[in-house]
Amino acid sequence: MRKLFLLAAALLASLSLAGQDFQEHFTGRTLRLDYVFCGDVHHQSIYFARAYRTGAWAGRRQHLAEVALQGNGQVRVLDPESGDILYVNGFSTLFQEWQATEEAAHVQKAFENCLQVPFPSHPVDVEVILLDTHAKVSSRLKHRIDPKDILIRASADNGLQVAPVLESGSLQEAIDIVIVAEGYALPDRGKFFHDARRAVDALFSHEPFKSYKKRFNVRAVFAPSADSGVSIPGQGEWKETAVRSHFDTFYSDRYLTTSSMWTLYDLIGTVPFEHVIVLANTAKYGGGGIFNSVTIMNSDHPTFVPVLVHEFGHAFGGLADEYAYGDNPETMYPTDTEPWEPNLTTLVDFDAKWADLLPEGTPIPTPLDKLEEQDVRRIWHTLSADEKASLNSRVGVFEGGGYQTKGVYRPVQECRMRINECEEFCPVCYRHLVRMIGFYTSD
Ligand SMILES: [Zn+2]
Repeated sequence: MRKLFLLAAALLASLSLAGQDFQEHFTGRTLRLDYVFCGDVHHQSIYFARAYRTGAWAGRRQHLAEVALQGNGQVRVLDPESGDILYVNGFSTLFQEWQATEEAAHVQKAFENCLQVPFPSHPVDVEVILLDTHAKVSSRLKHRIDPKDILIRASADNGLQVAPVLESGSLQEAIDIVIVAEGYALPDRGKFFHDARRAVDALFSHEPFKSYKKRFNVRAVFAPSADSGVSIPGQGEWKETAVRSHFDTFYSDRYLTTSSMWTLYDLIGTVPFEHVIVLANTAKYGGGGIFNSVTIMNSDHPTFVPVLVHEFGHAFGGLADEYAYGDNPETMYPTDTEPWEPNLTTLVDFDAKWADLLPEGTPIPTPLDKLEEQDVRRIWHTLSADEKASLNSRVGVFEGGGYQTKGVYRPVQECRMRINECEEFCPVCYRHLVRMIGFYTSD
């Protein structure tokens, strides 16, 4: 009986806390934290650089002590006395992607990072952890933040032009996206706002974003670049651009990223946001998406629409690539560890993934359709609607995904997270994206 009473009391306490936690601990503004993540494949370190008080807090005010997804790292705001988690968020980094490259075996490098948390109303501890591919903590930094610290810089309006592209609700109700101009010179201003509208049309013409459009706000920031276009090192082209992005990241010609995260956040300034899309003014194929970090996209390649949706799937949804191209010794998905990404499994903990969507009697691994014996990408346009639907929606456990042909499994044969030709997310990715939207927007 006493146990029951205690349980009921604890439940009531947690329910009332859920409503009060945010106001009790946070002011409603945003704390921007700049870090350096550095090291190599063997050792990683985190260093704190500086803090800013920026604009209004656009993030969630519920589920504060939960993560929607583990990520490859987490930032936690802790009560210094009790150690309770007051806020936590998962994220991934370019630094960790770099650790899987050959270069990381013999060079130590440093990467800029920015993390946003709600601005505390009392002293707190901030803890940042990075996780390795086995989900073990590889580095950790804990430091005190006193909101009265005079060295927390108050960001001022940076004067850049900001325009609303999609207005659906208040900061508290909606998921807030900011689109930042990259490689648009002053005369390209009109093109940038036109491209930003194209990006929004592309994203919200795809399910499930289409059905949940009313839960998103999008603002566009015009940051003029000295040069038009972006840097392509492989062709000897370096440009002076606002976000200093470039192709050939990790010597991969189509991988467009920026290492200048601090500059990117300076350009966003006090504009409230949860997700950032850098729109790069180029027709060259490429882009990138890193979970709760950044989406970066070319503006003018014919594959603009599918690639933007794919990269946002990474950055917003934490979805993994479902394609495979070999067996890499430095795999991001070792077979003894269940990936945190919802659309891959190593079968270590498949029940936590899409086992409930698997038709009874489905063999594991699931044999491919006859169609898959051909190069599906090349014949995609010749397939009937039924054939495409079957490849996209027949749920199984198909071997090959996460860049590995063996030991990693995906939910369907073809998905938006696998090939550009396939427009739709698979049922597993779809369900997960709906859950993510709910996590950030429901009370
Ligand atoms: Zn999928």
